[in-house]
Amino acid sequence: MEEKYLYKFNWDCSRQGEVEGLFVATESEVEYAIGKEAYFGEILGKHSEVYGTIEEGEIKKVDIDSNAVGQVAEHLGETWSGYNPLHYIKYDCQVCEDRYSGEEMHSTEEDDMICNYCQKEKSEKR
Ligand SMILES: [Zn+2]
Repeated sequence: MEEKYLYKFNWDCSRQGEVEGLFVATESEVEYAIGKEAYFGEILGKHSEVYGTIEEGEIKKVDIDSNAVGQVAEHLGETWSGYNPLHYIKYDCQVCEDRYSGEEMHSTEEDDMICNYCQKEKSEKR
């Protein structure tokens, strides 16, 4: 299991406002997200349609020990506040090869990308 860290996401949408989030992820999950298109929808009000590419520097690691992060994550889960950008990008499931948002993925580890649906099928076969 890769170590998890706390990350801060900050997107300046100029006139519309800011999209912020505090979330827990592994380094490779964050690396995967850089350069990907994120689609947030109308989170900053009607017709705001917030989307764009996640650039380097918009996700910053917070300097907290990964053990401490893990302990808090046991209680708070992986999204501590605001928006978790990892939930708004698309992943390719290695099994069905469909694309899903992070919320529909069972695992987004680079060598084990699998959606909830394939994971369910897999566990039912056992
Ligand atoms: Zn799948």
